[in-house]
Amino acid sequence: MARIFCVGRNYHAHIKELSNDIPDCPVIFSKPDSALVAPDAGEIPFPRGGRVLHHEVEVVVVVGKDGIPRDAADAVGYIGGLAIGLDLTLRDVQNDLIAKSLPWEKCKGFDHSAPLGTVHPFDPAAMHLDDISFSCSVNGKLRQDGNTSRMIFPIPEILMEISKYWKLRQGDMIFTGTPEGIGALEPGDTIKIQSPLLGCFRWKIGAGKDPQ
Ligand code: MG
Repeated sequence: MARIFCVGRNYHAHIKELSNDIPDCPVIFSKPDSALVAPDAGEIPFPRGGRVLHHEVEVVVVVGKDGIPRDAADAVGYIGGLAIGLDLTLRDVQNDLIAKSLPWEKCKGFDHSAPLGTVHPFDPAAMHLDDISFSCSVNGKLRQDGNTSRMIFPIPEILMEISKYWKLRQGDMIFTGTPEGIGALEPGDTIKIQSPLLGCFRWKIGAGKDPQ
């Protein structure tokens, strides 16, 4: 079974826009595999369980082998592929859960909450983990424009933190956090994510809400 890990609060400007505190170690949560949406799926159904659906475009690391890295340099050898994806979030549900100090599964791990682009094999000579540009636009308007150089915890450190608790497995997917510019999606919107290195992918936000 594919495992999907995610990092929360990894870009300063995004932390600021949500008025959160800067974490002293990476915030990690996970999603079930029913969250995945394929690059060519066409549509992302609007979730049934909340009202405020936010896009969070992120670089995604795919683990290439099983094991526990010794240190950050060794962790780079565990990267098998890179992609871009969306950590879709029900912000109204999340705010309610945070206010009650409850876990995040309902707001982060719902069905279809992890649309993912094509995975590119990791080539350390051609792909610089600390300089990957990526962006997200909705209905043709740019909303998020990020670069991994602005991460608080770089990718090797994220792998080290995850592997303190879970032995890495080939195929694990790790969403590495979103830059500023998050915003709401409505049924009928078209969302496009792109990166010069990792491709361009598009989905339409479907209906799916129960009739009011
Ligand atoms: Mg996120």
